[in-house]
Amino acid sequence: MKIEDMKVEGNNARFVMSGASVTFMNALRRVLMAEIPKMAIETVEFHMGSISDENGKSFESTGPLFDEMLAHRLGLVPIPTDLSLYKFRKECACGGEGCPTCTIMFSLNKKGPCVVYSGDLEPLGDSKLSPVDKLIPLTKLTEDEAILIYATAQLGRGRDHAKWQVTHGSGYRLYPTIKVSKAKCEGAKDCASACPKKVIAVKEGKAQVVNLEACNLCMACVEACEKGAITIEGDETKFIFQFETDGSLAAKDALLYALGHLESEFSALHDSIGEMME
Ligand SMILES: [Zn+2]
Repeated sequence: MKIEDMKVEGNNARFVMSGASVTFMNALRRVLMAEIPKMAIETVEFHMGSISDENGKSFESTGPLFDEMLAHRLGLVPIPTDLSLYKFRKECACGGEGCPTCTIMFSLNKKGPCVVYSGDLEPLGDSKLSPVDKLIPLTKLTEDEAILIYATAQLGRGRDHAKWQVTHGSGYRLYPTIKVSKAKCEGAKDCASACPKKVIAVKEGKAQVVNLEACNLCMACVEACEKGAITIEGDETKFIFQFETDGSLAAKDALLYALGHLESEFSALHDSIGEMME
């Protein structure tokens, strides 16, 4: 297998992989979606009763959303995760009670009228643990409304809940091969304008492929052009793979973790089959 044209920047990754199979690409896609751990808010405690500000003004601890809905939204807020620092609660030395190695605590203290954003979540301790995106709206508070929340985040995996899913839009396409028969393609205007991805352009009255990797094998140009003038095939050993992360991990770290995970799963399988054969 060979990786070409690797573009991994920030939260986005895109590369071309040749000498692979659909099965392998699917395994990578599924590991990226379901197996990479990240921090997400798991428990939320709402303060009940009235809340006072520093001037003695009293607010009702209420808002337009049900507490469950707000807790669900808090769970989906991406929390920056350094996988070298954290352990799963059940594997932690604290025995799952919660400690700085397995838990991040947040507080959220807002008084209306205002919009409450993800950036209002304040981590207890290191400010680097603040949510990655500060402007995700969570709820609105009107006059005399306030919320006071304590929340804890812990590691989880996408296979347990979508809030722990690190990557999104993770998928691949077969690498396209486009052949244009110059003898059969007359005019070429139809096939160029039919292509939604602007893969084909008209040059000197003939269709030419100008942006091959944008082709998603939709075949619109084949249908628009003269019969047999354009042939498109997908290469089942070469793929364009792409995904993005929610910001909790950089795309590079997510990809390296996913490949390491595949390697360790297969080596564990290798060892257990080896033992059975002895
Ligand atoms: Zn712990």
